[in-house]
Amino acid sequence: MLKKNDEFNLKITGYTSEGGGVGKFDGQAVFVENTAIGDEILCHIIKAKSTYAVGKAMKIIKPSKSRTEPECEAFKSCGGCSFAHIKYEDELKAKEQKVKDAFSRIGGLTPPFAPIIASPETTRYRNKAQYPVRRENGVLSIGFYAKKSHRVIDGGDCLLQPLEFTEIIEVFRKWINYNNITVYSENTNMGLLRHIYLRKAFATGEIMVCVVINGKTLPCYEALLEELKNVDGFKTLVLNINRKNTNVVLGDECISLYGDGYITDILCDVKVKISPLSFYQVNRNGAELLYGKAAQYADVSKDDDILDLYCGTGTIGLSMASKAKSLIGVEIIPEAIEDAKINASLNNFDNTRFICGDASSAAETLKAEGITPSTIILDPPRKGCAPELLKTVSEINPEKIVYVSCDPATLARDCSGLRELGYTVQEVTPVDMFPRTSHVESVALLKNDLPLV
Ligand code: SAH
Repeated sequence: MLKKNDEFNLKITGYTSEGGGVGKFDGQAVFVENTAIGDEILCHIIKAKSTYAVGKAMKIIKPSKSRTEPECEAFKSCGGCSFAHIKYEDELKAKEQKVKDAFSRIGGLTPPFAPIIASPETTRYRNKAQYPVRRENGVLSIGFYAKKSHRVIDGGDCLLQPLEFTEIIEVFRKWINYNNITVYSENTNMGLLRHIYLRKAFATGEIMVCVVINGKTLPCYEALLEELKNVDGFKTLVLNINRKNTNVVLGDECISLYGDGYITDILCDVKVKISPLSFYQVNRNGAELLYGKAAQYADVSKDDDILDLYCGTGTIGLSMASKAKSLIGVEIIPEAIEDAKINASLNNFDNTRFICGDASSAAETLKAEGITPSTIILDPPRKGCAPELLKTVSEINPEKIVYVSCDPATLARDCSGLRELGYTVQEVTPVDMFPRTSHVESVALLKNDLPLV
């Protein structure tokens, strides 16, 4: 058995689902961060348990062919990008494997896989960032959390974010210091400024600046506003009130200080209103490819009714609505469903209906109403669908289910559950919406293979 401080040569042979390297020593799994498949390292054990050990690479004896120099200076301190030191084509292979492994290990399924779809961009693709603001020993930090901690590392330019975001952070830094704006402390729950939350609509260039505060008003905001107006695309300044002693970034209340309080993007030819509290895909250009694949799987025509569960602001369903007979969307966040309704009218759709509620109970109600959609879209958060929802979906008995998921493990679990209920996975396509990070999106097509009675 391995012990703390053991040292030996180790070959990295796989990745964990968080993107760390794994090797085997005497049959035991050893996890080593910031390594690549194919690396031969001198491994120093820093933690030893009965079933696994955690090591540190003291030296890279022979580097993997997958390695590349990380472009980002913050790579080692920031926990965000597990794959920044790996060539993009090998990152894609690792992600494809991650989805396949989830299906076979968790779902017990080996469906056909289409090749992974790469993201159109691997840097500056994100349209959303939430920067924590802290002051320790008098020093202001605006940036990102250090790996597995709530210590804020003062962030320069994050390579995943648009350049304008870095410019805006610098505007805040000067304004906070010049005006002595107080900064929130997690220990005392005192101080005003908690997070700076930014969003950009890539198709229109519009930018939203949202200031999350532990208070009701923002002093000296006129001076901030004057500077923000110099940033290309700046459209609206919003306050978000969060007075709770919590890790959750956003509170429920938003107040617009300048502009309309929202920005507008265009996604798959659909105009989309983005409010601070509504979900919107963080990689807009990647989302066009994801939705394109979902549309290909759904393959709707004028005879088809669509039910889009977990619809957010309605974007997936709306991207198919012009070809379909009707669309019903269900979403739990009231602001998102209001946006979905506005999105439907912005795009002149009169064949849509949006319902605010829990997907499971809304699906049950819709089933009782006797709806008969030919296609159901599922796009739940990471935890996947509730078992009762899968059952209701199978009872509604659509011809097709298009399941979009940001977590291969819960997707595989739910596809296995749907298999029990008569739906077989026809094909899965992994889509890389989150280059350089360990996350991967997937879309699966399932069909009802029970004989019709
Ligand atoms: N399909 C949308 C949103 C996907 S994210 C898009 O592509 O943009 C998942 C969405 O599920 C979020 O908007 C979240 O608010 C919503 N959600 C979470 N739990 C839910 C539940 N129990 N019932 C309905 N919607 C839920």
